[in-house]
Amino acid sequence: MSELDFTAEGTVFDIQRYSIHDGPGVRTIVFLKGCPLACRWCSNPESQSTEPDLFFRASACIGCGKCIPVCPVGALSRDNPGFVDRAKCIRCGDCTKVCPTEALKRAGRRMSVAEVMQELRKDAIHYRRSGGGVTLSGGEPLLQAAFAKQLLMACHEQGWNTAMETTGCAPREVIREVIPHVDHLLMDLKSIDPAVHQQNTGVDNRLILENALIAASLTHAVVRVPVVPGVNDSPAAITAIARFAKLMPGVDTVHLLPYHSFGENKYRLLGRTCPMGALPDLKPEAVMPLKTLVEAEGLRCVIGG
Ligand code: SF4
Ligand code: SF4
Repeated sequence: MSELDFTAEGTVFDIQRYSIHDGPGVRTIVFLKGCPLACRWCSNPESQSTEPDLFFRASACIGCGKCIPVCPVGALSRDNPGFVDRAKCIRCGDCTKVCPTEALKRAGRRMSVAEVMQELRKDAIHYRRSGGGVTLSGGEPLLQAAFAKQLLMACHEQGWNTAMETTGCAPREVIREVIPHVDHLLMDLKSIDPAVHQQNTGVDNRLILENALIAASLTHAVVRVPVVPGVNDSPAAITAIARFAKLMPGVDTVHLLPYHSFGENKYRLLGRTCPMGALPDLKPEAVMPLKTLVEAEGLRCVIGG
Protein backbone atom coordinates (compact mmCIF):
# COMPACT_ATOMS: atom_id res chain seq x y z
CA MET A 1 0.00 0.00 0.00
CA SER A 2 1.60 3.28 -1.06
CA GLU A 3 1.76 6.32 1.21
CA LEU A 4 -0.69 9.15 0.83
CA ASP A 5 0.95 12.29 -0.51
CA PHE A 6 -1.21 15.37 -0.06
CA THR A 7 1.41 17.53 -1.80
CA ALA A 8 1.07 15.66 -5.12
CA GLU A 9 -0.06 18.12 -7.78
CA GLY A 10 -2.16 17.87 -10.90
CA THR A 11 -3.85 20.20 -13.37
CA VAL A 12 -7.57 20.60 -12.72
CA PHE A 13 -9.87 22.60 -14.98
CA ASP A 14 -13.11 22.40 -13.05
CA ILE A 15 -14.71 21.10 -9.87
CA GLN A 16 -18.48 20.68 -10.17
CA ARG A 17 -20.54 20.18 -7.03
CA TYR A 18 -23.96 18.57 -6.55
CA SER A 19 -23.90 16.34 -9.61
CA ILE A 20 -26.39 13.50 -9.69
CA HIS A 21 -24.77 11.99 -12.78
CA ASP A 22 -21.46 10.23 -13.17
CA GLY A 23 -21.87 7.73 -10.36
CA PRO A 24 -24.21 6.93 -7.47
CA GLY A 25 -25.74 9.58 -5.15
CA VAL A 26 -24.74 13.21 -4.93
CA ARG A 27 -21.25 13.70 -6.30
CA THR A 28 -18.52 16.23 -6.85
CA ILE A 29 -16.83 15.91 -10.21
CA VAL A 30 -13.14 16.79 -10.44
CA PHE A 31 -12.15 17.41 -14.04
CA LEU A 32 -8.49 16.72 -14.81
CA LYS A 33 -6.87 18.36 -17.79
CA GLY A 34 -5.34 16.58 -20.77
CA CYS A 35 -6.64 13.82 -23.03
CA PRO A 36 -4.92 11.47 -25.50
CA LEU A 37 -8.10 11.45 -27.63
CA ALA A 38 -9.61 14.30 -29.62
CA CYS A 39 -13.20 13.14 -30.07
CA ARG A 40 -14.98 15.26 -32.65
CA TRP A 41 -18.00 15.57 -30.33
CA CYS A 42 -15.97 16.49 -27.22
CA SER A 43 -18.09 18.77 -25.03
CA ASN A 44 -15.11 19.88 -22.93
CA PRO A 45 -12.59 21.08 -25.53
CA GLU A 46 -10.70 22.92 -22.78
CA SER A 47 -9.92 19.49 -21.33
CA GLN A 48 -7.90 18.27 -24.28
CA SER A 49 -4.60 20.09 -23.82
CA THR A 50 -2.50 19.34 -20.75
CA GLU A 51 -1.66 23.06 -20.58
CA PRO A 52 -4.01 25.79 -19.29
CA ASP A 53 -6.35 27.35 -21.87
CA LEU A 54 -7.77 30.86 -22.24
CA PHE A 55 -11.48 31.53 -22.66
CA PHE A 56 -12.55 34.91 -24.07
CA ARG A 57 -16.23 35.78 -23.75
CA ALA A 58 -16.84 38.75 -26.04
CA SER A 59 -20.31 39.38 -24.61
CA ALA A 60 -18.80 40.01 -21.14
CA CYS A 61 -16.07 42.38 -22.35
CA ILE A 62 -16.77 46.02 -21.45
CA GLY A 63 -13.85 47.29 -23.54
CA CYS A 64 -11.96 48.78 -20.58
CA GLY A 65 -8.62 47.79 -22.13
CA LYS A 66 -7.02 46.87 -18.77
CA CYS A 67 -5.84 43.53 -20.10
CA ILE A 68 -4.02 44.86 -23.17
CA PRO A 69 -0.87 46.31 -21.52
CA VAL A 70 -0.37 43.36 -19.12
CA CYS A 71 -0.03 40.76 -21.88
CA PRO A 72 3.71 39.93 -22.10
CA VAL A 73 3.53 38.93 -25.77
CA GLY A 74 1.13 41.52 -27.17
CA ALA A 75 -1.57 38.97 -27.95
CA LEU A 76 -4.47 41.27 -27.08
CA SER A 77 -5.67 44.01 -29.39
CA ARG A 78 -8.99 45.47 -30.46
CA ASP A 79 -7.63 45.09 -33.99
CA ASN A 80 -7.39 41.30 -33.69
CA PRO A 81 -10.34 39.36 -35.05
CA GLY A 82 -11.64 37.70 -31.88
CA PHE A 83 -9.51 40.06 -29.71
CA VAL A 84 -6.99 37.35 -28.65
CA ASP A 85 -4.25 36.42 -31.10
CA ARG A 86 -4.21 32.69 -30.34
CA ALA A 87 -0.99 32.14 -32.27
CA LYS A 88 0.83 34.57 -29.96
CA CYS A 89 -0.88 33.75 -26.65
CA ILE A 90 1.28 31.70 -24.28
CA ARG A 91 -1.69 31.13 -21.93
CA CYS A 92 0.09 32.69 -18.96
CA GLY A 93 -3.18 33.94 -17.44
CA ASP A 94 -1.88 37.44 -16.60
CA CYS A 95 -4.77 39.12 -18.43
CA THR A 96 -7.35 37.15 -16.45
CA LYS A 97 -6.07 38.70 -13.22
CA VAL A 98 -6.94 42.24 -14.29
CA CYS A 99 -10.17 41.63 -16.22
CA PRO A 100 -12.98 43.05 -14.07
CA THR A 101 -15.76 41.07 -15.75
CA GLU A 102 -14.16 37.64 -16.21
CA ALA A 103 -14.45 38.07 -19.96
CA LEU A 104 -10.98 36.51 -19.95
CA LYS A 105 -10.81 33.34 -17.92
CA ARG A 106 -8.20 30.67 -17.54
CA ALA A 107 -9.16 27.01 -17.76
CA GLY A 108 -6.80 24.81 -15.79
CA ARG A 109 -4.70 25.34 -12.71
CA ARG A 110 -2.24 23.34 -10.68
CA MET A 111 -3.76 22.04 -7.47
CA SER A 112 -2.39 19.79 -4.76
CA VAL A 113 -4.33 16.83 -3.39
CA ALA A 114 -4.73 18.84 -0.16
CA GLU A 115 -6.30 21.76 -2.05
CA VAL A 116 -8.73 19.54 -3.93
CA MET A 117 -9.66 17.73 -0.71
CA GLN A 118 -10.41 21.07 0.93
CA GLU A 119 -13.01 21.70 -1.81
CA LEU A 120 -14.41 18.19 -1.60
CA ARG A 121 -14.88 18.34 2.18
CA LYS A 122 -17.55 21.03 1.69
CA ASP A 123 -19.89 18.32 0.37
CA ALA A 124 -18.91 15.41 2.59
CA ILE A 125 -22.26 15.49 4.36
CA HIS A 126 -24.07 15.01 1.03
CA TYR A 127 -21.86 12.07 0.10
CA ARG A 128 -22.73 10.35 3.37
CA ARG A 129 -26.46 11.04 3.17
CA SER A 130 -26.89 10.05 -0.48
CA GLY A 131 -24.34 7.28 -0.86
CA GLY A 132 -22.50 9.59 -3.24
CA GLY A 133 -18.88 10.60 -3.46
CA VAL A 134 -16.26 11.92 -5.80
CA THR A 135 -15.87 11.28 -9.54
CA LEU A 136 -12.70 11.97 -11.49
CA SER A 137 -13.37 12.98 -15.06
CA GLY A 138 -11.64 14.97 -17.75
CA GLY A 139 -10.05 14.94 -20.15
CA GLU A 140 -8.58 11.61 -19.26
CA PRO A 141 -7.84 11.29 -15.53
CA LEU A 142 -5.36 8.47 -16.17
CA LEU A 143 -3.12 10.89 -18.06
CA GLN A 144 -2.30 12.27 -14.59
CA ALA A 145 -2.12 8.83 -13.05
CA ALA A 146 -0.02 9.61 -9.97
CA PHE A 147 -2.21 12.57 -8.99
CA ALA A 148 -5.44 10.67 -9.72
CA LYS A 149 -4.32 7.74 -7.59
CA GLN A 150 -3.41 9.99 -4.65
CA LEU A 151 -6.74 11.78 -4.90
CA LEU A 152 -8.66 8.50 -4.98
CA MET A 153 -6.70 7.20 -1.99
CA ALA A 154 -7.37 10.41 -0.06
CA CYS A 155 -11.11 10.06 -0.79
CA HIS A 156 -11.08 6.46 0.40
CA GLU A 157 -9.31 7.53 3.56
CA GLN A 158 -12.36 9.73 4.25
CA GLY A 159 -14.68 6.80 3.53
CA TRP A 160 -16.05 8.42 0.35
CA ASN A 161 -17.16 6.46 -2.70
CA THR A 162 -14.94 7.00 -5.74
CA ALA A 163 -15.80 6.89 -9.42
CA MET A 164 -13.86 7.59 -12.59
CA GLU A 165 -14.89 8.28 -16.13
CA THR A 166 -12.16 7.05 -18.46
CA THR A 167 -11.43 6.54 -22.13
CA GLY A 168 -9.27 3.58 -21.12
CA CYS A 169 -6.47 5.01 -23.23
CA ALA A 170 -3.53 4.57 -20.87
CA PRO A 171 -0.58 2.22 -20.42
CA ARG A 172 -1.54 -1.21 -19.05
CA GLU A 173 0.44 -0.68 -15.83
CA VAL A 174 -1.48 2.55 -15.14
CA ILE A 175 -4.77 0.66 -15.41
CA ARG A 176 -3.53 -1.96 -12.94
CA GLU A 177 -2.16 0.68 -10.56
CA VAL A 178 -5.07 3.16 -10.46
CA ILE A 179 -8.33 1.31 -11.18
CA PRO A 180 -8.28 -0.74 -7.94
CA HIS A 181 -8.79 2.61 -6.14
CA VAL A 182 -12.01 3.26 -8.10
CA ASP A 183 -15.30 1.90 -6.72
CA HIS A 184 -17.39 2.65 -9.80
CA LEU A 185 -15.84 2.82 -13.25
CA LEU A 186 -17.57 4.62 -16.11
CA MET A 187 -15.86 3.07 -19.12
CA ASP A 188 -16.40 5.09 -22.29
CA LEU A 189 -16.60 3.09 -25.50
CA LYS A 190 -17.12 5.00 -28.71
CA SER A 191 -16.75 2.40 -31.45
CA ILE A 192 -15.60 -1.18 -31.84
CA ASP A 193 -14.67 -0.50 -35.47
CA PRO A 194 -10.97 0.49 -35.46
CA ALA A 195 -11.28 2.69 -38.56
CA VAL A 196 -14.32 4.58 -37.24
CA HIS A 197 -12.59 5.03 -33.89
CA GLN A 198 -9.38 6.30 -35.43
CA GLN A 199 -11.20 8.66 -37.76
CA ASN A 200 -13.35 10.25 -35.06
CA THR A 201 -11.07 10.29 -32.03
CA GLY A 202 -7.64 10.37 -33.63
CA VAL A 203 -6.65 7.20 -31.74
CA ASP A 204 -6.61 3.45 -32.47
CA ASN A 205 -8.98 1.50 -30.20
CA ARG A 206 -7.02 -1.73 -29.68
CA LEU A 207 -5.35 -0.70 -26.41
CA ILE A 208 -8.63 0.82 -25.19
CA LEU A 209 -10.58 -2.40 -25.74
CA GLU A 210 -7.88 -4.53 -24.11
CA ASN A 211 -7.78 -2.15 -21.16
CA ALA A 212 -11.58 -2.16 -20.86
CA LEU A 213 -11.49 -5.93 -20.30
CA ILE A 214 -8.76 -5.61 -17.68
CA ALA A 215 -10.31 -2.60 -15.92
CA ALA A 216 -13.69 -4.34 -15.57
CA SER A 217 -11.95 -7.25 -13.86
CA LEU A 218 -10.51 -4.86 -11.26
CA THR A 219 -13.66 -3.03 -10.14
CA HIS A 220 -17.36 -2.53 -10.77
CA ALA A 221 -17.80 -1.03 -14.24
CA VAL A 222 -20.54 0.25 -16.50
CA VAL A 223 -20.10 1.03 -20.19
CA ARG A 224 -20.94 4.50 -21.46
CA VAL A 225 -21.51 5.27 -25.10
CA PRO A 226 -21.80 8.80 -26.44
CA VAL A 227 -24.29 8.21 -29.26
CA VAL A 228 -23.18 10.45 -32.10
CA PRO A 229 -25.12 10.78 -35.37
CA GLY A 230 -23.15 9.47 -38.32
CA VAL A 231 -20.49 7.95 -36.07
CA ASN A 232 -22.00 5.16 -33.95
CA ASP A 233 -25.78 5.57 -34.04
CA SER A 234 -26.41 2.62 -36.35
CA PRO A 235 -27.92 -0.64 -35.02
CA ALA A 236 -24.76 -2.52 -36.09
CA ALA A 237 -22.44 -0.12 -34.22
CA ILE A 238 -24.45 -0.21 -30.99
CA THR A 239 -24.91 -3.98 -31.12
CA ALA A 240 -21.16 -4.41 -31.56
CA ILE A 241 -20.54 -2.27 -28.46
CA ALA A 242 -23.16 -4.18 -26.46
CA ARG A 243 -21.61 -7.51 -27.46
CA PHE A 244 -18.20 -6.26 -26.41
CA ALA A 245 -19.63 -5.01 -23.09
CA LYS A 246 -20.86 -8.54 -22.41
CA LEU A 247 -17.25 -9.75 -22.59
CA MET A 248 -16.24 -7.31 -19.85
CA PRO A 249 -16.24 -9.11 -16.48
CA GLY A 250 -19.20 -8.09 -14.30
CA VAL A 251 -20.61 -5.51 -16.71
CA ASP A 252 -24.39 -5.65 -16.90
CA THR A 253 -25.27 -2.02 -17.74
CA VAL A 254 -24.74 0.24 -20.73
CA HIS A 255 -25.46 3.97 -20.64
CA LEU A 256 -26.36 5.58 -23.95
CA LEU A 257 -25.60 9.30 -23.90
CA PRO A 258 -27.37 11.09 -26.76
CA TYR A 259 -25.17 13.64 -28.56
CA HIS A 260 -25.55 17.19 -27.28
CA SER A 261 -24.01 20.39 -28.49
CA PHE A 262 -23.14 21.88 -25.06
CA GLY A 263 -19.50 22.15 -26.12
CA GLU A 264 -20.16 24.31 -29.14
CA ASN A 265 -20.00 27.59 -27.24
CA LYS A 266 -16.80 26.54 -25.49
CA TYR A 267 -15.05 26.09 -28.84
CA ARG A 268 -16.04 29.66 -29.66
CA LEU A 269 -14.66 30.94 -26.33
CA LEU A 270 -11.37 29.17 -27.08
CA GLY A 271 -11.21 30.70 -30.56
CA ARG A 272 -11.69 27.26 -32.12
CA THR A 273 -14.22 25.80 -34.55
CA CYS A 274 -16.51 23.04 -33.30
CA PRO A 275 -15.68 19.91 -35.38
CA MET A 276 -19.34 18.82 -35.33
CA GLY A 277 -20.51 22.13 -36.80
CA ALA A 278 -24.08 23.03 -35.87
CA LEU A 279 -25.26 19.43 -35.52
CA PRO A 280 -28.48 19.49 -33.45
CA ASP A 281 -28.86 17.57 -30.20
CA LEU A 282 -29.98 13.97 -30.48
CA LYS A 283 -33.33 13.56 -28.74
CA PRO A 284 -33.57 10.74 -26.18
CA GLU A 285 -36.56 9.33 -28.14
CA ALA A 286 -34.27 8.83 -31.13
CA VAL A 287 -32.06 6.57 -29.01
CA MET A 288 -34.94 4.34 -27.82
CA PRO A 289 -34.54 1.78 -30.65
CA LEU A 290 -30.85 1.49 -29.77
CA LYS A 291 -31.78 0.89 -26.11
CA THR A 292 -33.97 -2.00 -27.25
CA LEU A 293 -31.00 -3.47 -29.13
CA VAL A 294 -28.77 -3.29 -26.06
CA GLU A 295 -31.48 -4.92 -23.95
CA ALA A 296 -31.85 -7.67 -26.58
CA GLU A 297 -28.24 -8.55 -25.75
CA GLY A 298 -29.31 -9.19 -22.15
CA LEU A 299 -27.89 -5.96 -20.73
CA ARG A 300 -29.58 -3.23 -18.72
CA CYS A 301 -29.64 0.01 -20.70
CA VAL A 302 -30.02 3.55 -19.37
CA ILE A 303 -30.43 6.59 -21.59
CA GLY A 304 -28.33 9.33 -20.04
CA GLY A 305 -26.60 8.66 -16.72
S1 SF4 B 1 -3.05 34.45 -21.34
FE1 SF4 B 1 -1.12 35.64 -21.20
S2 SF4 B 1 -0.30 35.55 -23.27
FE2 SF4 B 1 -2.47 34.98 -23.44
S3 SF4 B 1 -3.55 36.85 -23.91
FE3 SF4 B 1 -3.59 36.62 -21.66
S4 SF4 B 1 -1.78 37.76 -20.93
FE4 SF4 B 1 -1.52 37.44 -23.13
S1 SF4 C 1 -9.95 43.56 -19.14
FE1 SF4 C 1 -11.70 42.23 -19.62
S2 SF4 C 1 -13.40 43.66 -19.90
FE2 SF4 C 1 -11.51 44.89 -20.06
S3 SF4 C 1 -11.00 44.91 -22.26
FE3 SF4 C 1 -9.92 43.19 -21.37
S4 SF4 C 1 -11.30 41.45 -21.69
FE4 SF4 C 1 -12.53 43.30 -21.95
